[in-house]
Amino acid sequence: MLKHLGVIGYPLERSLSPAFQQAALDHLQLDIVYQAWPTPPDGLRTRVSGLRGESVLGANVTIPHKEAVLPMMDEVDEIAARVGAVNTIVNRERRLHGYNTDVVGFMRALREDGGFEAVGRRVVVAGAGGGARAVVAGLLEAGAASIAVINRSLSRANRLVETLGPYAGDGELRSLPEMYASWEAVMDECDLLVNCTSTGSAGFEEESVIPADLIRPGMLVYDLVYHPAETALMAVARERGARVLGGLPMLVYQGAASFELWTGKEAPLDVMFDAARGALAEGDRKARV
Ligand code: NDP
Repeated sequence: MLKHLGVIGYPLERSLSPAFQQAALDHLQLDIVYQAWPTPPDGLRTRVSGLRGESVLGANVTIPHKEAVLPMMDEVDEIAARVGAVNTIVNRERRLHGYNTDVVGFMRALREDGGFEAVGRRVVVAGAGGGARAVVAGLLEAGAASIAVINRSLSRANRLVETLGPYAGDGELRSLPEMYASWEAVMDECDLLVNCTSTGSAGFEEESVIPADLIRPGMLVYDLVYHPAETALMAVARERGARVLGGLPMLVYQGAASFELWTGKEAPLDVMFDAARGALAEGDRKARV
């Protein structure tokens, strides 16, 4: 029987997952089709119920549904529960299991592509949404010495700190309002800066909130945004002598971890990277014509 997978989000025009997941499935000659399943909030419950169907293996979940699907799961993995967000659903005999592979995706890219070990290091995280929660959870688990979370809405940053604070161990986790004085107070001591806001992504009018003049040579500037491949933040950080890392490796690694949960097979990473880069370039070409 032909099996189905898909990504649930809204809107989904820019999602790269259908391109690189299908390329991986085809490469391994699996009889599985991966589709985009655009789902507005009022259709989420029906969509998730449909995942219990016999031919459905599961789904990815993206903006804006990662938090909303969590209570709809029959089982939630420990990391997903900690983060408070599910990005991967597996249908096992009509029971839905929720996972969060953003955490492993982020940490793998940080280590393998950024060459950065977080233990004992000082980090500034811009943003406090679902992406930031996965980032902070991963960094705490890896033993970061301090994490400062700076977000436009301070109450959301405070909520993140409240939920993840119990996992900080000996590390320090705090929230700061999005003011220049906050940035000045933490950037001087920072080894890693992670942008987890949506600013800088294609089609997003507003500029990055991160004060470029505080970026120093030697720090790693990691932008979760993957479209465009080189964001304005990355370009300015590079000019100022910092090392930079974009969001594409994290996207592919989180997708590879999802792929392995659904299929039980090792994900063909090279195939996934090629397809993701191809889809990104195609999106840019379409945007220009
Ligand atoms: P959310 O919608 O959960 O959070 C958005 C964040 O961006 C919030 O902190 C929000 O602040 C902030 N923000 C939005 N607009 C502005 C603005 N104009 N000025 C300042 N801050 C702003 O999204 P996610 O956390 O899921 O995703 C955030 C970004 O990270 C997206 O670009 C997404 O594509 C990317 N991402 C990439 C991944 C990858 O695999 N590479 C994985 C996950 C995310 P506030 O709370 O004040 O609204």
